[in-house]
Amino acid sequence: MSKLARLRSFIHDMTRLVERHGEDEQRMLDEGEKLLRGLIAQDDWLPGEFARASPGGYRQYLLHCDPLERFSVVSFVWMPGQKTPVHDHTVWGLVGVMRGEETCEEYSKDLKPAGRHPVRRGQVDRVSPRIGDIHVVSNDGAEVAVSIHVYGANIGAVRRHTFDPASGTPRDFVSGYANATLPNPWDRSGEASRP
Ligand code: FE
Repeated sequence: MSKLARLRSFIHDMTRLVERHGEDEQRMLDEGEKLLRGLIAQDDWLPGEFARASPGGYRQYLLHCDPLERFSVVSFVWMPGQKTPVHDHTVWGLVGVMRGEETCEEYSKDLKPAGRHPVRRGQVDRVSPRIGDIHVVSNDGAEVAVSIHVYGANIGAVRRHTFDPASGTPRDFVSGYANATLPNPWDRSGEASRP
């Protein structure tokens, strides 16, 4: 399989899944997790420009957005020591670590610390307003961490919140993306021209 074919195949499978079960969050999380585990099991397909770290802060690169914005696929890149603010998502999300290791600190709806756990390479974490939606993700390790996330919306354009952990004060937050151009998994000329 060519490298970006893995991403293409994941997009195919997620599109079929959202067509069939897009209204069923539990099913999207359960079956989406299996697909995401498959995608991150082989760390050979993500083009370097979408895995580039920045000393200015963690990066998020859009890899694919469903044309109807029912889901999006994003790569996140953290240098050692980088972390997100306390934030929510407002939609379901899957976080699959492909390189390095991440730490997730969860918060309850009233902003009380609700536990902390590592997400190791190959593991997939879940968020949603129903099961717990507020967290901080950090890279406490010694190497750059890269994770592939799938969300039930065009996440970079969703109006959501960051929170001051001391006071609980929410602030409006729209994350956007670090990239203006996307990977191209659709050039199939190589395989199409094979006899
Ligand atoms: Fe998050």
